[in-house]
Amino acid sequence: MLRKPDKIVYLDNNATTQIDPAVLEAMMPFLTASYGNPSSAYRFGKKAADAVESAREQVARLIGCQPSEIIFTSCGTESNNATLASALSMDIDRQHVVTTRVEHSSILKHCETLAKRGYEITWLGVDSEGRIDLDHLNDVIRADTAVVSVMTANNETGVINPIAEAAAIVREKKVLFHTDAVQAIGKIPVNLRESKINFLSISGHKLHCPKGVGALYIDRRTRFNPYVIGGGQEGGRRAGTENVASIVGLGKACELAAENVEAENTTVRAFRDRFESGILERIPDVRVNGDVASRLPNTTSLSFTGIDSEGILMLLDKEGVCCSAGSACTTGSLAPSHVLRAMGFNDDRARGTLRFSFSRFNTEADVDRALEAVPASIEKMRITLAA
Ligand code: PLP
Repeated sequence: MLRKPDKIVYLDNNATTQIDPAVLEAMMPFLTASYGNPSSAYRFGKKAADAVESAREQVARLIGCQPSEIIFTSCGTESNNATLASALSMDIDRQHVVTTRVEHSSILKHCETLAKRGYEITWLGVDSEGRIDLDHLNDVIRADTAVVSVMTANNETGVINPIAEAAAIVREKKVLFHTDAVQAIGKIPVNLRESKINFLSISGHKLHCPKGVGALYIDRRTRFNPYVIGGGQEGGRRAGTENVASIVGLGKACELAAENVEAENTTVRAFRDRFESGILERIPDVRVNGDVASRLPNTTSLSFTGIDSEGILMLLDKEGVCCSAGSACTTGSLAPSHVLRAMGFNDDRARGTLRFSFSRFNTEADVDRALEAVPASIEKMRITLAA
């Protein structure tokens, strides 16, 4: 018998995260009394402008860049879209983009749209462990390549790419390099000092800040054309009145991320590892997806033979356990995840895949609950499907 949930066990932190209470506390004054517009000339506006600048410093400190190299955006998707748009607007003779088959849809779909408009895209594949091939990257860059975009860490498998090496290869060829670091920031150390990265995307809600705020690092020597056009905010690089409270929250979240990155790699990693080995001990026919030697400390992607992950999500939901499937439900049909497909998995393996992602707000009790609920749900479904 499956137990009734009394509390949510939230193991879907790559989808979004709980707001850290300290982040909310930092934001509150800017949602209430201090509602000034940062562009206003009087002191009430200046207070908001100062708060935005302090947040910029906090973000810059986390990733080892200058505050002037950070602009605030509405989300990770905007940061990714803005980079591609800017890079392609610089030189009309450069209409070629290189990216990977395992990027988030904000790069993937943008590139598919570009292809329809006549741009040429080279899609780098990955091996069965989700790894890119740097020699292949080196080979596909051309004289007309505008930008190369490779994510720092994959949202589904947690696989971490060799970004410093990739950026160095791309710089050598005098081409712009972007990395979508949305899943990496706060989970692993990211340091842009000495790096050859031109653009890096950040999203607030993946690091215990509210949804609807992001940031983009733009290397100070790199030219940039704004994507959101209108007012002259963000030094003319991103129009729109600043989302002051959320920007303040993002700054605080980055400060906390710097303090907690070690815990991510000890405590959170230990939650993930105990859960993963517990599942492998309790359930037959399970495989771990992705390069376990180079993986985010909080993520495990597991393929269970003979199950349908959407059905398991429903069973786990009844138990109060939140996680993700390795497939996306589009217009009623289950499309296997593009990431798992790029890794060469057949549809059955992709359909039997679940992603569990932990955070510093999980507890040992969450791991215990998940280690009861997941095996029970898998067993129940396997019995049902075999009957
Ligand atoms: N990039 C990656 C790797 C992501 O996982 C996500 C969100 O899932 C995004 C970009 C998009 O971020 P946002 O939700 O802030 O638009």
